[in-house]
Amino acid sequence: MSRVYNFSAGPSMLPVPVLEKASKEMLDYNGSGMSVMEMSHRSAVYDKIIKDAEASLRKLMSIPDNYKVLFLQGGATLQFSAVPLNLMKNGKADYIVSGQFSKKAADEAARYGEVNIVASSKDKNFTYVPKVEKDAFSKDADYVHICYNNTIFGTVYNYIPDTGDIPLVADMSSGILSKPIDVSKFGLIYAGAQKNMGPSGLTVVIVREDLIGFARPETPIIMDYKTMADNDSMYNTPSCYSIYVAGMVFDWILSIGGLEEMQKINEKKAAILYDYLDSSKLFKATAEKEHRSLMNVCFVTGDAELDKAFCAEAAKAGFVNLKGHRSVGGMRASIYNAMPVEGVEKLVEFMKDFEERNAK
Ligand SMILES: *Cc1c(COP(=O)(O)O)cnc(C)c1O
Repeated sequence: MSRVYNFSAGPSMLPVPVLEKASKEMLDYNGSGMSVMEMSHRSAVYDKIIKDAEASLRKLMSIPDNYKVLFLQGGATLQFSAVPLNLMKNGKADYIVSGQFSKKAADEAARYGEVNIVASSKDKNFTYVPKVEKDAFSKDADYVHICYNNTIFGTVYNYIPDTGDIPLVADMSSGILSKPIDVSKFGLIYAGAQKNMGPSGLTVVIVREDLIGFARPETPIIMDYKTMADNDSMYNTPSCYSIYVAGMVFDWILSIGGLEEMQKINEKKAAILYDYLDSSKLFKATAEKEHRSLMNVCFVTGDAELDKAFCAEAAKAGFVNLKGHRSVGGMRASIYNAMPVEGVEKLVEFMKDFEERNAK
């Protein structure tokens, strides 16, 4: 068996100890005589799995008691619709557009109400995150929506917008669990699991209780946060196996020292890569320095053919999925929590060698 260094933006690497535990428990979970995949979601054994997963996430993120944690399906994309359906009480919301996903979220919300684009970084192909001051937000907005870490463009908010009394909603799909965040600054946080939490098929929603219960009448019952909160995320069959794996990922992060420690490791990994990119004569980071993502590192050579050759050679050497998103081109190294420091060190060694061989 040989594992590659997988730089995929998602689904992405999972921690090896978690995969090992899952494989050990595959045929017989904890004496139940069955795999978690085969288990009734109403069984006592599974009830403990989902409750423990929630408890671990609450501990990890220090989620205040007045927030519900929901384990849903449909990806972050379904939340593009669920957020306006549940939160647009007065039919108006503010969106900051800092990349492709926030644009999609805003377009979807516009089907349900009035969407005000407060700021956008489209002018520079999303290489930065707009800085928005409190007085720029609409006084009567039901919420302000941001995409915290822009997976495709490799940028991240280096501040939390101050929206005053207006609830702040964040798509944190690719930034959640990368470092500590103050949940109390947000009305709602949502994230697809497949970037930094577990397998696909699970979407985590962390929502302040006073925002639940205002869904528009036509909201599908499965998308109403109240339905899901009242039924402990089990109105219907949840994404059982993904929740089980995510629970083990939460415990793995707790075991290495929680999000403070995770942040240190992530900053170290990102620094190794960005420091090299800043010194390289061949490669160049595309995101502006003060908004560089810890999780998704985008870079180019400036020559599309050379980018292609680099990705092909890298894959042969065991560094896979480095091709950038088609809207940015070049390369993207996603270095989520499960990517070991060694993976980034070895990638940089490989890049240095490639640079030497391709010196102009
Ligand atoms: C991946 C991603 C999405 C889309 O997630 P799905 O789970 O595929 O719906 C949305 N927003 C961000 C920030 C992402 O990284």
